[in-house]
Amino acid sequence: MIDTRKIAQDFPMLRKMVNGKRLAFLDSASTTLKPQSVIDGVVEYLTETTSNSHRGDYQTAYEVDVRVDETRAAVARFINADKDEIVFTSGTSMSINLVAYGYGIKHLNKDDEILITQAEHASNVLPWFKVSEHTGAKVNYIPLDEEGRLTADNLRKVVSHKTKIVAVAHVTNVMGFLVDLKQIAAIAHEFGALIVVDGAQSVPHFPTDVKDLDVDFLSFSGHKMLGPTGIGVLFGKYHLLQAMDPLMMGGGMSARFDMCGDIDLMLPPVKFEAGTLNLEGVFGLKKAIEYLEDLGMSNIVAHEDKLRAYAISELKKLENVIVYNEKAEAGIITLNLKGVFAQDASTYFNSKGIAVRSGQHCAKILTDFLKTHATIRMSMYVYTTKEDIDLFVDACKKGGDFLDVYFE
Ligand code: PMP
Repeated sequence: MIDTRKIAQDFPMLRKMVNGKRLAFLDSASTTLKPQSVIDGVVEYLTETTSNSHRGDYQTAYEVDVRVDETRAAVARFINADKDEIVFTSGTSMSINLVAYGYGIKHLNKDDEILITQAEHASNVLPWFKVSEHTGAKVNYIPLDEEGRLTADNLRKVVSHKTKIVAVAHVTNVMGFLVDLKQIAAIAHEFGALIVVDGAQSVPHFPTDVKDLDVDFLSFSGHKMLGPTGIGVLFGKYHLLQAMDPLMMGGGMSARFDMCGDIDLMLPPVKFEAGTLNLEGVFGLKKAIEYLEDLGMSNIVAHEDKLRAYAISELKKLENVIVYNEKAEAGIITLNLKGVFAQDASTYFNSKGIAVRSGQHCAKILTDFLKTHATIRMSMYVYTTKEDIDLFVDACKKGGDFLDVYFE
């Protein structure tokens, strides 16, 4: 069980006032608030351990190297990977680009196909367009079912031996549907394709076991799982990381090179980490993982499940609310208030101290499916309370009368 009253003490942002009101932060799919332990981790690097990694022979440099190693081990433990399969990146976007450029452009050609869905975030669409531009490989779409889900049946309808990559989100960022990844991965493998997973919205919220799911690549961001911005992860099966080119060349990732340009690269994961790592990010990420492990991922699932069910039951009582993903598994509810432009509604919510997102949420090709230009997305995490939901539902109630309310 998650005790939100106890947790509230850990998050300084929950004490923030917005427009004279307590902040009700319902935009955790965008980024999450940070507990004090994560902030302390970042500050510890800046105040007590500032040195570069892999570079120095002195005490603090050694301490940084140890912490980088410990964080890599913590990430590996968190998703049941091996430590050498964990590459530090700046976030999900960079991780997917690393696979697209480092693997896709190197190994695909004009007869190949990449399968994605219409529900993907821009970060899991645009890199594949680039691969297509460079190699001639086609980007095709697995049709969504009526509700907007990716299903194994629909993958079977389009997959073929031309398919080399199936790139999908484990949880989509607008619909919040949890994909049966084990089944999708098995089908991709049956056809000799790789399964590349955008885990930005799943890893922070659901227990993740890359060995059990048998995924080839998995990307996620520290800032969506209580950690700092600018640090993220690419997991890749080791033999695939070996078969990949780095996206960036630079310090720390070469074993030797000579004046003729003959280069020997370090082994993965270091081969992909040219330049100085975001070390304060690394320090903070370790604390974030420890915080989530202390709470327990199954408790997090139960907490979000309960809040989501409550929010849906309350929202369904309102005639002026259209919910697009009533049956989603994740703590993401996407809706509109009838007759009110989504961005106007968010501005109104803001006047009540409520932070939600509106617009297309970077899933720009999903709008045709939803048949609406913009939606309001409210999303929750470990610190979200029933009171936050009540505030939001209460604000929605006034949506029918929106303009009157706005000038109240
Ligand atoms: N994929 C999904 C599903 C996301 O929700 C996001 C963040 N909104 C991203 C990718 C990109 O993550 P980042 O901005 O941390 O690179």
